[in-house]
Amino acid sequence: MSVALYRKYRPKNFSDVTNQNHIKITLQHEIESNHLGHAYLFCGPRGTGKTTLARLLAKAVNCLDLKNNYEPCNECDSCKEILEHRSLDIIEIDAASHTGVDNVRENIINNARFTPAKSKYKVFIIDEVHMLSISAFNALLKVLEEPPKHVIFILATTEAHKIPATIISRCQRFDFKKIFAKDLVTRLRWIVSQEGMEVEESVLEQIAKHAGGCVRDAESLLEQVLSLGGQKITAEQATLILPRSDHNLFYELFSLILNKQKAEALGFVNKLLEDGIDLNQFTDNFIEFLRQLLIYKVTNNPHDLARDFDDNLVTRCIAVLAKAEETQIINIISKLLANKDLFKQNYLVQLPLEITLIELCSLKIAVLTSVKPVTALPSIKPPINPVSVSTQKDEAIVFAPVHEINEVPIAEKQVVEEIVIREVGDLIGFLNFWHVVLKEIKEQNYSLFMSLHMSKPLSFVDDKLVLGFLFELQRTRVDDLKSMNIIKEALLKHLGRKIVVETIIDSKLTLADLPKSTNFDNQVAALPKTPEEAVSDVASEFGGQVVG
Ligand SMILES: [Zn+2]
Repeated sequence: MSVALYRKYRPKNFSDVTNQNHIKITLQHEIESNHLGHAYLFCGPRGTGKTTLARLLAKAVNCLDLKNNYEPCNECDSCKEILEHRSLDIIEIDAASHTGVDNVRENIINNARFTPAKSKYKVFIIDEVHMLSISAFNALLKVLEEPPKHVIFILATTEAHKIPATIISRCQRFDFKKIFAKDLVTRLRWIVSQEGMEVEESVLEQIAKHAGGCVRDAESLLEQVLSLGGQKITAEQATLILPRSDHNLFYELFSLILNKQKAEALGFVNKLLEDGIDLNQFTDNFIEFLRQLLIYKVTNNPHDLARDFDDNLVTRCIAVLAKAEETQIINIISKLLANKDLFKQNYLVQLPLEITLIELCSLKIAVLTSVKPVTALPSIKPPINPVSVSTQKDEAIVFAPVHEINEVPIAEKQVVEEIVIREVGDLIGFLNFWHVVLKEIKEQNYSLFMSLHMSKPLSFVDDKLVLGFLFELQRTRVDDLKSMNIIKEALLKHLGRKIVVETIIDSKLTLADLPKSTNFDNQVAALPKTPEEAVSDVASEFGGQVVG
């Protein structure tokens, strides 16, 4: 593979060119009817085939033996000379490095006067034509106004708006479009087969995605992937070459927004910046990520996630999406799109994303959609699967303001509208729910969850839970306002009512009975196995070490 793929597989016929059918058909028709223009302007994004089609046109108008559909034969003397870059009549000029008027006079105007050395037409292909100076454009304009019969100009540019109107009006203009990913994949697949290799389809799809409609970028990425060698290149191998997937980062950011973690979200942006990540690009890709989550939310089909995400991420996404609503995702996407203009400013690159994230974390919709203040909770559903058949406490269960201290103001508090009241009875009944509550807490605050591991529910009477702790460290941690709110929210969610929580140090407790007594189900495995290990774990959690 000494020759770059994009050179090696540069289309030799119109039919080989990917997309741009509107241009190919028009050009072939002009060749057929012998109504060729004297000047063409090819505009469009890079890597979409402008230079390729310019060369094809130059070859076709000079071919001595045109084939079906007015394709060049690629075998006559003229075609061969052009293919081997020997033709004196095809003049390619890179305007980016020849911007001055002298160059235009010398290379174009003077040269155009002479008849072609061998061919029917002398063809000037001027690439990046927008780079010419004003005086150079003026000189070019003169020759475009009275073009010699044997000359064809093809001007190519990625920035048509920089071309003087006087020049544009003298040209036949063609606008090239970006190549669709699926067409890029088709082309890449063909090249792979020509190279006698095999590459997993998902790799080709990733390449096409990264190339963003540019054939040259796609082929250059493919070339790097093929350089890995071997019989068949797998998605895993290709990760060595392909730009890193940011899916895990997107997941992290999505979770921060859902949990309204403003400060953490700002820290996240800062980290991206430190890692040299292009925030504009990152945001575009984040929107694409959210789109995939939205599609899954609608279809409920895990395959919609599995196409681009690894298994681990699919599992995590499904878990977080179980708690998110379609409207939340739509709101986040809408906000990002609405702030898109901000991202174009150059003042402080991180500012637009920071503003957007703060706004997103402040949206009420960001945590739960079907929410309303606690004070408006008249439609409480009857208990479902109550643990205890006792109905004595039914009246007490109906939501009422609870005598609580350290309470967050009610108006700020939000709860799920369709709340389910659970009658749990005594401590034994409560323990059936405690592990569910812990699981909920674990997802919100792992450190708090770990501290709760070192406690045991001692009693549950009249909606008051008493948690016994072995160590003051964990008790203090659990007892702070923020932690307590998390615990109470989780209890409210799963038991359907406010629970008063009290923490005490229980000198009778021993390390050994914590895991057994608290019914941690599958979390048991993560618990310390011996008292020594437990102490050591606790010490390391708090940055200390066991002495003596
Ligand atoms: Zn030919």
